Amino acid sequence: MHSRLRSGERTVTPPETPDAGLWFIGRIHTPWAMREDCPRQGRLDGPECRIEIFAPWAAALEGIGAYGHLEILYWLDRSRRDLVRQNPKDDGQRFFGTFALRSPQRPNPIGISKVRLVAVEGAALIVRGLDCLDGTPLIDIKPDRCEFTPKAPAKAADPHGQG
Ligand code: SAM
Repeated sequence: MHSRLRSGERTVTPPETPDAGLWFIGRIHTPWAMREDCPRQGRLDGPECRIEIFAPWAAALEGIGAYGHLEILYWLDRSRRDLVRQNPKDDGQRFFGTFALRSPQRPNPIGISKVRLVAVEGAALIVRGLDCLDGTPLIDIKPDRCEFTPKAPAKAADPHGQG
């Protein structure tokens, strides 16, 4: 789906074939059907959203309830993927390269939000902190990096690693 190109914005022709594939592991349900209604960035006190995990991935939720916060990665499926120069304010004045922005329009339209985990309900998570459209595909879930401690032994290259 291609959004309107603003004056001075620049697109490129992406390569014909992708370098990797991914699986949508679930779907995110939010209160927002239209892009203009979505927050630009989620807030931890935002509305409750429901993340449904598809079979066979529900087993991968084991242990997740131990975390108060998670990092959610999702596929901003209604973005154009060919923009390299963007004019976020649509004012024809200030332009930014795509990698200098958190815009949803990017070659691999991956969105990342830190969320508060409210509840685990079977194969679904109730969270606060998202900013995506209803129906957005889920691509990954990780424990918040500040709460997480590695479960595997430290490596030599880690700060307190063992040789
Ligand atoms: N928090 C994420 C990040 O920083 O990576 C995403 C930020 S992005 C600025 C959020 C905006 O993307 C929303 O306000 C909405 O305009 C747009 N958006 C949300 N869901 C989308 C979807 N499924 N496809 C395309 N655009 C979407």
